[in-house]
Amino acid sequence: MLSFVTSLRLINIRKTFDQTVAVEDVSIEVSAGSLFFLLGSSGCGKTTILRMIAGFVQPTAGRIFFGDRDVTALPPENRNTGMVFQNYALWPHMNVSQNVGFGLDVRRMPSAEKKKRIGESLELVRMSQYADRLPNQLSGGQQQRVALARAIAFRPDLLLLDEPLSNLDAKLRLEMRSEIRRISNELRITMIYVTHDQYEALSLADQIAVMSAGKIEQLGAPRDIYQRPRTRFVAEFIGETNFLYGEMQGTRDSSGFAQVVTPIATMRALVPPTKKAGDRITLSIRPETITIDELDAVTQSRSNATIILGKCIESTYLGAYAQHIVEANGQRIKVFQVNPHSTLFAGKQVRVTIPADQVVGVEE
Ligand code: ATP
Repeated sequence: MLSFVTSLRLINIRKTFDQTVAVEDVSIEVSAGSLFFLLGSSGCGKTTILRMIAGFVQPTAGRIFFGDRDVTALPPENRNTGMVFQNYALWPHMNVSQNVGFGLDVRRMPSAEKKKRIGESLELVRMSQYADRLPNQLSGGQQQRVALARAIAFRPDLLLLDEPLSNLDAKLRLEMRSEIRRISNELRITMIYVTHDQYEALSLADQIAVMSAGKIEQLGAPRDIYQRPRTRFVAEFIGETNFLYGEMQGTRDSSGFAQVVTPIATMRALVPPTKKAGDRITLSIRPETITIDELDAVTQSRSNATIILGKCIESTYLGAYAQHIVEANGQRIKVFQVNPHSTLFAGKQVRVTIPADQVVGVEE
């Protein structure tokens, strides 16, 4: 029904507040119609970026483009962005329809058109039957749906979402995640979504920018970010991981792999292009990519995998999976075993298998 598609470009954006560098030289390209995430812990600068896109904060340096339009110097009211906040920010004295129509009143839309837009927007967020209720007669999830409807009713060029699900309980958060994905698919509107929740980002994003201290650590699709973290920060911030330290031997092959000597084994690993023979290297290995077996178990051998013998010093049953800690040559390795039939590894000698394509060298 509705369709409004604009790409976004931030070029070398910087923002300082007195002595604080909130955002340092950030460049981002968001393709039209995609769902782009700014992910990072508190204070990393993600809200400041969102506010610069909306026009509430002026960058100290750099340029912002909506499509081909340079909006850097434009005030917020001339940028046509929709915003959804963590605290919903609905007008308490207005009913649902009036809240959704607010941006249309500001734009002096004729009443027939306005009524149609309110109807369409409420339908999209599945709130049509609540049109006459006041915000305090709605649940948190329903209020956030109204806030979403209000933000899309005037057909913004960009939809900006600032931690929109943080105030909802875990179950509602999951439900609203699917709703946001559905709305993104239906509207094909360009969305910029700020969160510190890795699961929101991994499950929804087309692209994620992982931020730390005002900079982008890594930008990519969820799988790239999770499976191929470029830095130690990203590997640790998203999901769980094991770090092993080693020394690179020989040269990288054409696929980017090299041999790395670590205290527990010499293993094949994907290594950054900057690394050369003799360099110290940090390896990241996700616990769920490692398999664990009893020493004498018969298993299929895997080419390009590293096999390590060790002792399981702790097993914890966690329902969907079990966590095992294996000690080998003074190093501890965490292993996640999905659908665990038994947690009888504790105290036993075990064999762990690490596939080479899951061993990723990261920058410190
Ligand atoms: P949070 O998740 O807690 O909102 P954030 O990643 O969104 O964090 P920002 O709000 O962008 O982070 O803040 C980045 C840095 O800039 C912080 O150090 C913050 O204290 C600082 N900062 C933000 N706004 C201002 C301001 N108006 N004046 C001074 N410093 C500011």
